[in-house]
Parts: sequence; C-alpha cells; structure tokens
Amino acid sequence: MVDEIEMNRPTWVEINLESIKNNFEAIKNLTPTNRVICVVKADAYGLGAKEIARELEKHSAFAFAVASMEEALELREGGIKNPILVLGYVDTRNLEVAAVNDIRITLFDKDFIKRLKEYKLDTPLYIHLKVDTGMHRLGVDPNEVMSIFEELSSFRNVFIEGIYTHFSSADSSKEYTEFQIKKFNTLLNGLQNRKIKPPLVHAANSATILNFREAYYDALRPGILLYGVSPNINLALPNDFSKAVSLKTRIIKVSHYKKGEAISYGRTYITDGDKTIATVPIGYADGVPRNLSNTGYVLVKGQFARIVGTITMDMLMIDVTGFPYIHPGNEVVIFGSQGDKAITLEEFSQRALTIPYEILTRLNKRIKRVYLKK
Ligand SMILES: *Cc1c(COP(=O)(O)O)cnc(C)c1O
Repeated sequence: MVDEIEMNRPTWVEINLESIKNNFEAIKNLTPTNRVICVVKADAYGLGAKEIARELEKHSAFAFAVASMEEALELREGGIKNPILVLGYVDTRNLEVAAVNDIRITLFDKDFIKRLKEYKLDTPLYIHLKVDTGMHRLGVDPNEVMSIFEELSSFRNVFIEGIYTHFSSADSSKEYTEFQIKKFNTLLNGLQNRKIKPPLVHAANSATILNFREAYYDALRPGILLYGVSPNINLALPNDFSKAVSLKTRIIKVSHYKKGEAISYGRTYITDGDKTIATVPIGYADGVPRNLSNTGYVLVKGQFARIVGTITMDMLMIDVTGFPYIHPGNEVVIFGSQGDKAITLEEFSQRALTIPYEILTRLNKRIKRVYLKK
C-alpha cells in the first residue's frame, strides 16, 4: 500500500482505524443504552464510508446514518449489515428498494404522507420522523406530529421506528440548544400522555454529546467526533479522544534562490534573501484552500515551514531555508503531527477561514486513503 503511494504521487490521507475505534468506544461509554448511530455521510466525511463503517460494525456500532439512498446502497454493497438511516431526501420510487435493503428513511415533510399512500409496499418500511425544533432545515412542525402518528397507524407495512431532531447551535449557544431541547421534550411528553413511544428517540450530534448530557435520549448520532476532531475549535475534547486523520505528502524538488526571485503564479512572494524553497505535490484541487497562499504552514523535519507564493492546482511551495538535510522524499505534514509538533485540523481550518468538516469532505478522491491498524 505504501509502495503504491511512493510509486505514484506521494500525497496521502492517513486514517488511524485504531483511534476511530477508541473514539467510538469513548462515545459508546457515555451512553447507558450503548446505542450509537454513526454518521458516515459524504463518504464518512471524505475518509471512506465503507472502510470506516466496516471497522465500526466490527465494534458493534448500532446503526449508520447517511445523506442519500445512493450512500446507503453503497454501504450495503460494501457488506454493511446493520440498520442504515437516510437523513435526507428519498424519492418515493425508491421506497421499496429502501424497505428491501433494510434502509430507514426520514419523514421530514407532512406532504410526503400523501405520496406514501400511493405506494403499496410488500416489505415493511421503517421511518424516522424528523421534527424541526429550531434548526429550520428539515423536519415537521411539532404540532403536526400527533396527526402524523394517527395517519400512519392505518398504513400497512409502514412503521415509525424513531423520532429525532437536530440542534443548530450545540457548539455555541447553551440558551438556544436548551430552547430546542425543551421544545422536543414537550413534544415527547405529549406523545407519552397518549401512550405513544417510538422505540428510538435521538438528537445528539458531536457538539451535543460534548455539551448536553440531558439530550442523549435512546441513541447518540456523532459524526466528526468519531475522528477525534472537535466540532468547534473552542471546544476541547476529553482526554480519551485522539486524532485519527492526518494529511501528508513529500517534497519533490528543492531549489535555491537569491534575493528578489518571484515564486509561483502572480509573483505574490518575492525572496527577501537567499532562500531554499521546496515544491510539494499537493494543491487546491486536492483540497488545500488557496487562501492559505503565503499564510499557511506545514511541518517538515519536525519544524514549521511557511507556504510561500500562490498555491497552485496540484502543487505548492514552502520555505525551508536553514532546515537541515532537505531533499526530495522528505515527509511534509499538511495537518497532523511530526516529531513533537502538530498542526491540528482545527487550527488548519481556522487559518483557512473554514471548519474541519469542509476541509475533510473536500479532500479530493485522487489523494490515497491509507488506513492504519495498530
Ligand atoms: C451531520 C449530522 C450529524 C453529525 O454531525 P457531527 O457534528 O459531525 O456530529 C448528526 N445529525 C444530523 C441530522 C446530521 O446532519
């Protein structure tokens, strides 16, 4: 695997499955139900949904959640057996496929029930009802929930297995999240008064898991936390979490320039003395934001090296002036650790004026994913 990378473009994402397993166990240990719905949408945040889901299934992940039917079927094709919940849109023409493949769908709009009526399902279909308590993206109004339960109770082969909501600001606003929790609890109490108890109530994304124990309900629904990444740079992770992802490459050319030479497109960087500049095979097409031109850093030989000049599509340049024994083949860490130094994904993302979620999901497919199992 490593040879294959060295023989091709030496740029890769390192994914530590042992860390992911440990992070998963740490999350599981937080809940008395042991139920964790692992969110592996967008190809497990760019890290490889099949590989990650297989690993988590081995360690008894309760279920998986994805964004679309396509993503759900990809997991099935990859041999994943546990329940899969589609968090987003599912076309009515796909309902039988969903039912047959043990894929749960989300009901997030009351109008969907009308369309559901036209379909005679031969196989039981399990639904999770999504309630909008304040995110205002998907979900039915809490006031509609009772009538939805009543209406669906007359459907053959359609069952409400779960009810869930999503918090918009669990990483940043105690007040707003408490408002959403209260709204959800009021709804659940109302249902209970009518003896309605869906088997699975869930709400907690990563930020909620870290901040709101009172919103754990029957199952947790983490994504980014599985990878040891914090949903917010100001929110520290407990000690039992560890970083599972790093982005690495290798120097392919070392050049020496005198004072006054311009580096890269648009000549945005001019050497202000004798400089040693290294070229690295990773660029904005790989997912390194172009706005890190002249502002970002990488690690080489355990030291920070500045990105100089404009980041190009497939390559970027770094200033390694004064570094010992620099030569092609030296490892460069874009984010991750090297020696006793680290550039966390959280810091890297903040410097690029974005969030870890966006950086991870935009890592180009052409970068090899390397899975470490210790
Ligand atoms: C993406 C998503 C999650 C997971 O979010 P993280 O912040 O990565 O934990 C949970 N629930 C829903 C509905 C989501 O869309």
